[in-house]
Amino acid sequence: MEIACLDLEGVLVPEIWIAFAEKTGIEELKATTRDIPDYDVLMKQRLSILDKHGLKLSDIQEVIATLKPLDGAVEFVNWLRERFQVVILSDTFYEFSQPLMRQLGFPTLLCHRLITDENDRVVDYQLRQKDPKRQSVIALKSIYYRIIAAGDSYNDTTMLSEAHAGILFHAPDNVIQEFPQFPAVHTFEDLKKEFIKASNRELAL
Ligand SMILES: [Mg+2]
Repeated sequence: MEIACLDLEGVLVPEIWIAFAEKTGIEELKATTRDIPDYDVLMKQRLSILDKHGLKLSDIQEVIATLKPLDGAVEFVNWLRERFQVVILSDTFYEFSQPLMRQLGFPTLLCHRLITDENDRVVDYQLRQKDPKRQSVIALKSIYYRIIAAGDSYNDTTMLSEAHAGILFHAPDNVIQEFPQFPAVHTFEDLKKEFIKASNRELAL
């Protein structure tokens, strides 16, 4: 029994905050953990910017609904779901990812949630747990599944290490160099081949 664990942003869909900042023209929303390493400080800043622009959750979701999955992502997810049970492990929020997940056919998603008030303002966020991607792989292994995982960035590397096989997809050069133990591919066709290679079953492309 095998489960494919996939990162979401940068693998199947664009980076949601960046794409949202571009769509709305709100430059200050382009800050990432590279600019502000403390995630809590970064998130509080993002939420206060949204509030300053009077954006309620429904407004934000409307903008996100205009975003599209990456080229080839829908076909890839359909391909993968015919061969594996697929679970998406993401550091996004259910409320933000909803419009994009709809376009992907709502595969199983484990991520975090946003907290809104009675006026639909986003007032806070709740992380599901610490090191959530790795913990999810540990949990799935505890029920005797073999795990093959793919992700694009630093926040995926503990998941890739914990899995029986890990694959880097769309990863930047510095991540590829720092984690040479993982095969690194850049197209969905090559990613399919890596999943087939990593599987312990005889699968066809
Ligand atoms: Mg990512």
